Amino acid sequence: MNRVPPTTGRSRRLPAIDRAELRDLLGTLLEIPSPTGYTDRIVHFVGGWLEDLGFVVEQIPIPDRPGKLNLVATRGQGPDGLVLAGHTDTVPCDPALWSSDPFRLSERDGRLYGLGTSDMKGFFALVLDALRDLDLSRLQRPLVVLATADEESSMCGAQALVAAGRRLGRHALIGEPTGLRPVRMHKGITMEAVRITGRSGHSSDPALGNSALEGMYRVLGELLRWRTELQARYRNPAFKVPVPTLNLGYIQGGDNPNRICGRCELHIDLRPLPGMQLEALREELEQRLRGVLAGTGLGLELVRLFEGIPAMETPAAAPIVQAAEALTGHPAEAVAFGTEAPYFDRLGMQTLILGPGDIDQAHQPDEFLALARIPPYVRLLQDLVGQFCLMSP
Ligand SMILES: [Zn+2]
Repeated sequence: MNRVPPTTGRSRRLPAIDRAELRDLLGTLLEIPSPTGYTDRIVHFVGGWLEDLGFVVEQIPIPDRPGKLNLVATRGQGPDGLVLAGHTDTVPCDPALWSSDPFRLSERDGRLYGLGTSDMKGFFALVLDALRDLDLSRLQRPLVVLATADEESSMCGAQALVAAGRRLGRHALIGEPTGLRPVRMHKGITMEAVRITGRSGHSSDPALGNSALEGMYRVLGELLRWRTELQARYRNPAFKVPVPTLNLGYIQGGDNPNRICGRCELHIDLRPLPGMQLEALREELEQRLRGVLAGTGLGLELVRLFEGIPAMETPAAAPIVQAAEALTGHPAEAVAFGTEAPYFDRLGMQTLILGPGDIDQAHQPDEFLALARIPPYVRLLQDLVGQFCLMSP
């Protein structure tokens, strides 16, 4: 990376939020509905803005997901470059729990309220605001704005980019809410169902059935032993919970005290540290559970409750990490939520997570973005573009 000082013309601009235009932009984004990935109107709107700023805009349909689109907007050519990435979908919300309409921007107490202000329509408004004040004709490396579909549920947008092998740039920033602190690590998440099938029969004679519940007793014991082993094997002090976790979250089995239990199902949540691979964990899980049920005659089925999110770690020495640490004055941290970063990693991007909102407000009623976060974030975006896209004075 070239550490050319930023030449963003920052001193000429007013703090971003003094301008009604930014509010209008965010207000419009909030009013466009964005339920679970059907965000084509957001893509058209943001794409239109970027086209006006001279970007080449691609709206890429996601295979087998009709109506879902990724947006890739590129200005400039060449290797490296910077990718500013976010997702266009928002989580479902219950307007009855909100103090104001979640689909309309509402300003009070120095905060902008609305669904997606923090996670993460607000990010796109700030990106557009940051870029329109830069002289983009001076870019010497590509600048890409990436808006993915369906991050909050299937992550099919990011997965489609990986499947297509789409190269976008070397350095990436995801504007997920981190309270303006850089994040370079998160745990992975996977949720699995363990289904045991036995044979039901009258309780008076054990020979009439084969108890799935008694099989589950063995499974539970094995899972707790496995958890102890995993926590002894893996540890990373950067995380608040420095070990991988395994939670037994749901169980259902049997229907009557006088019937042998024919079926029992357990759901677990497993959160690995960076360096632990989801596929290897799933294989180990299956092997251990098959082992503990061997000879019982019980059937075992393992089902993924969702695709899972791999853990991620971008090296501390990565240029994007170093730049963000210098610009924010905070060392890069680890967080407990998952992002699309592991997919970007597979596309050769070194990814940092850094956004203006707070994760505490995301997915909650009365989600907001503090006005005070806006000017420093807009400046940060401009400085990163200056550093990574080599804008000459
Ligand atoms: Zn998000």
